[in-house]
Amino acid sequence: MHNKQRQITVQDYPYLVSEYLKKRDMYKYRADNTVLFNQFCNNYDGRIITNRGRNQNVYIGYPWCKTICPFCVYTSGRIDKPASIEEYVDLLTIESKLLGLSSGQTTSLYWGGGTPTMLDTSSLKYFLQKTSGLLSFSENAVVTIESNVENLTTEKLDVMAKYANRLSIGVQRFTDINRLKLGRNTKQQQVIDALKLAAQYFDNINIDIIYGVDKDSVESIMTELSFMIDIGIRSATLYKQEFFVNGLRSHTYKAYMPNNVECAKIHEAASVFLSENGFIEQPIGWFRKEDVRLANWKSRLDGWGEYPDYFGLGPNAYSHLDNMYIKNTDVYNDYKTELTNNRLPVNRYRNKSLIEKGVQLFVRKFRLNQRIAKNDLIFSFVEYPNFFEELQNLFQSQLYVLFFENENDEFILRRQYYTIINWIINDICEIACKHVR
Ligand code: SF4
Repeated sequence: MHNKQRQITVQDYPYLVSEYLKKRDMYKYRADNTVLFNQFCNNYDGRIITNRGRNQNVYIGYPWCKTICPFCVYTSGRIDKPASIEEYVDLLTIESKLLGLSSGQTTSLYWGGGTPTMLDTSSLKYFLQKTSGLLSFSENAVVTIESNVENLTTEKLDVMAKYANRLSIGVQRFTDINRLKLGRNTKQQQVIDALKLAAQYFDNINIDIIYGVDKDSVESIMTELSFMIDIGIRSATLYKQEFFVNGLRSHTYKAYMPNNVECAKIHEAASVFLSENGFIEQPIGWFRKEDVRLANWKSRLDGWGEYPDYFGLGPNAYSHLDNMYIKNTDVYNDYKTELTNNRLPVNRYRNKSLIEKGVQLFVRKFRLNQRIAKNDLIFSFVEYPNFFEELQNLFQSQLYVLFFENENDEFILRRQYYTIINWIINDICEIACKHVR
């Protein structure tokens, strides 16, 4: 399938990417490609959804923030709030029981938001202690808490480190000018000080860095990454600004729309720079030093190769189970009413079709390894010969021949196209959706 006559070079990829992206923007084509399967969702009919003794990854949300960041794609802060932390924990406890989470081994727990660390120190302790007490953990479980820079005080870090072994910090950018663009009031030096303090409590820290914001450039992201390396950060998630329907800026999104070609250049430059500095990128956009992976992320990575159940708790959370997708209501009062009546606060759900299960497994592997084995495709979609044929046509198309190298019947995504992986997955999901039955 490889077109040997047309050798691609780094210099000409912006043209090719822009050709591909002509009909796309980051509003319609988003990172969450499973969204395409939502057309097969139904209104919740009260059915019982429970862990079936499988290993599980759990997300517990605290979907509220003090203020809303201009780039945020979540609905945090726009929903009612609980009267007290005790009330919210009581509801999470009921939700966990209804889902039967105590019967599964938890391989990873993620407390995310919103901003769970905006709770005062004693409420934070109560929240972490009570909710972690709902679960039994496997050996080497990865327990992450998400925080912004502002809440990294000694008192709160003390509490966080008691219950979590990994800290994820939404740094977004270091430099003052870019922090201002993102509506962040803390200054560069405060960020650096906070990260150094956090490193005294956690040896496993990941920071989020966003790019594509307001005429971003390769030079600008290189400055940000240099700060990260100087401080000694050994794990970072680099992600592209995207816009969601009903997101904060959905009405003005065009004014803030990142330039697709510039984003491709930024990601490639960052990817090369970080690999020269000893980072591995796996999956795409997640950079870390090799020893960080060996320390305690192995179970999580192993999970990417199979099909783990992922349960999300809290308003607006979703669960991706082996056989089902579930989306909770995002209205806190509805969430509370349902749980108070011992009903799951599910808004929509779908049973996963065989083809969706195949696509999801293959997408996990593709994200992890940046490559697709033809045999995997044949194996995953043996019951869908027409889908497989359409996939083959896609991979033989002019652009796909340029996106991928074909080696020993493996399609390997070229680095300059890493930033469009979500849209390649989107293409595949679009075809898959036509064959759901
Ligand atoms: S980016 Fe994080 S802190 Fe900012 S509004 Fe969104 S969830 Fe809250």
